[in-house]
Amino acid sequence: GAERTKNVLILMSDTGGGHRASAEAIRDAFRMEFGDDYRVVIKDVWKEYAGWPLNDMERSYKFMVKYGQLWKVAFFSTSPRWIHCLYLAAMANIYAKEVEAGLMEYKPDIIISVHPLMQHIPLWVLKWQGLQKKVIFVTIITDLNTCHPTWFHHGVTRCYCPSEEVAKRALLDGLDSSQTRVFGLPIRPSFCRAIISKDELREELDMDLQLPAVLLMGGGEGMGPVKKTAKALGEALFSEEFGKPIGQIVIICGRNKSLASTLESIKWKVPVKIRGFETQMEKWMGACDCIITKAGPGTIAEALIRGLPIILNDFIPGQEVGNIPYVVDNGAGVFSNSPKKSAKLVAEWFSSKTEELKKMSENALKLAQPEAVFNIVRDINDLTCSRGPLTSIPYPLTSSFSYPI
Ligand code: UDP
Repeated sequence: GAERTKNVLILMSDTGGGHRASAEAIRDAFRMEFGDDYRVVIKDVWKEYAGWPLNDMERSYKFMVKYGQLWKVAFFSTSPRWIHCLYLAAMANIYAKEVEAGLMEYKPDIIISVHPLMQHIPLWVLKWQGLQKKVIFVTIITDLNTCHPTWFHHGVTRCYCPSEEVAKRALLDGLDSSQTRVFGLPIRPSFCRAIISKDELREELDMDLQLPAVLLMGGGEGMGPVKKTAKALGEALFSEEFGKPIGQIVIICGRNKSLASTLESIKWKVPVKIRGFETQMEKWMGACDCIITKAGPGTIAEALIRGLPIILNDFIPGQEVGNIPYVVDNGAGVFSNSPKKSAKLVAEWFSSKTEELKKMSENALKLAQPEAVFNIVRDINDLTCSRGPLTSIPYPLTSSFSYPI
């Protein structure tokens, strides 16, 4: 007979744009590959808690002390660095409840974490309920290189690493090679499969059909020196000599509304499109010839798939630093934190250095891993199948434990 539909719970947090994009990529790929065999739910763990953690400091502190002790003794003696951080403990406080509620509600056969802080508590909750052998738990790391050690948890069934470098770190951290797989960063299938010509896209997006185009953005939140870079591009892409533009600009501000309205008020000498949060990034990238962005892993991986040479103009300290050599050392782009220099380089790429642009585009395509998302869901499906026909997982009907706070 037909197997029952399996439930997949993806745990993420909608900070920036990257985690949501990865979660949606996985959900869409499950649907494309396996149709109704899987029911995928994405749970944004922080959503209902606006203002965190500042509104919850005292409670969090109490929580950390009490819960931290128990936690340390019981399960996490190997990673005490975790419990020393107030913020992390505060997060744990919030999301233990969310995770438990999610487990009770969705009864997942498979839990997927796409967040560096979402391994410990869910695994702990599973253990507490005696379900850790029954539920498949996998981590999908979304940092390309210098990822935080909280990503690595020894109790996972699989840890999907976007690059060999990350896999190396996972092994050093004590994961077994049977747990790690390297397929690449999961990117939304709309990026991997949609092949519409640049001309058609430009028409659809109401762009200039002739002028080469640079895409300027700063992650989901519109971060980094977007405004200065936009202004510099506005100057550099206008040829005083010929009295006309040599390129056009698309600026995607994400959720940064004040950036968008500031840019709207500027008088431009070249064609400029200013947009807020876009849901069809694959189209904008497909319509452009290069990109200037902060070193967000999602944006980088998407740009590589579209063959866009990348100018990295900013990074979030820590997790995004390593994304820079990943791009630069592979010849797919450059780092420049000077808006003027970035703009000058784009102007050169669009005039005298078109060969360099082409070469970098080829290198970008070589580095791209459009199949990663499909390979990941296939591997998860293999894991599920190897467990044999799934019987219903005995989730409790009511909360079986109370929190020590
Ligand atoms: N993104 C989007 N619409 C926007 C701006 C960004 O869909 O208007 C997506 C972008 O395509 C990428 C993600 O948000 O998938 C940004 O992730 P990244 O890892 O680059 O940076 P983060 O925003 O997470 O810091």
